Amino acid sequence: LRTGVDRLGEMIAEARTIVPFTGAGISTETGIPDFRSPGGLWSRNQPIPFDEFVASQDARDEAWRRRFAMEETFAAAKPGRGHRALASLYKAGKIPAVITQNIDNLHQASGFKADAVIELHGNTTYARCIGCARRYELDWVKSRFDSERQAPDCTACGEPVKTATISFGQAMPEHEMRRAAELSQHCDLFIAIGSSLVVWPAAGFPMMAKHAGARLVIINNEATEQDDHADLVIRHDIGETLGPFVGN
Ligand code: NAD
Repeated sequence: LRTGVDRLGEMIAEARTIVPFTGAGISTETGIPDFRSPGGLWSRNQPIPFDEFVASQDARDEAWRRRFAMEETFAAAKPGRGHRALASLYKAGKIPAVITQNIDNLHQASGFKADAVIELHGNTTYARCIGCARRYELDWVKSRFDSERQAPDCTACGEPVKTATISFGQAMPEHEMRRAAELSQHCDLFIAIGSSLVVWPAAGFPMMAKHAGARLVIINNEATEQDDHADLVIRHDIGETLGPFVGN
């Protein structure tokens, strides 16, 4: 590990513009489980695809029950060492923005400005109407759910209200995809952290950066399909790997 961290330190020092790309693995030490590890969320529940959510009140009720069941976990989670290390490099001016697949709001909580967090899969700490995009807070959804015993619809347009996340089958956010592509193509160091790199199109950004000339680092405790393309692979715990880069 020492040599990997030393090498990473050199690459960070040599880089002018670093773009991190994060997945669920950066948040596991905060208590939020990832999807694919043993004990991860998928060993408990299959995800509800977007068309099912739209078509069925039962699916919406189930989706919200699951979300409320996770609320204590999300509410209690504080940024981990990985988040804090990235926030230090952001404050130092080395990182213009972070591209994330995470929906937990922990990059913002660690000190990134909202417009410096490119959320490819949205955010689960609030909700939106899927018709008119009006924002709702989770407390509102919860109290409506409790009083009506079903998932509420938008008070303005009547369409369903959903966590502000991107479900399978739902369109990717255009603005975020464009910004992520620009960031990937204009950095000299791209660091993929805690992602199994199997969810597309998000998983395309590391190779986009590589093709545009950036060095690619992959930090993940299990192998990924893109390891062969990386300039440095650190197959180890993220908190331990990035802990030394947490600033004061
Ligand atoms: P993933 O679950 O597919 O992959 C996470 C990877 O991180 C795995 O390869 C796992 O081995 C590794 N990992 C876990 N803990 C680690 C640690 N401490 N150190 C090093 N590696 C560790 O997650 P993904 O690639 O982000 O894609 C799944 C989707 O899940 C994303 O689209 C995201 O929207 C969603 N998701 C988000 C959260 C969150 O916001 N925290 C949590 C679960 C799922």
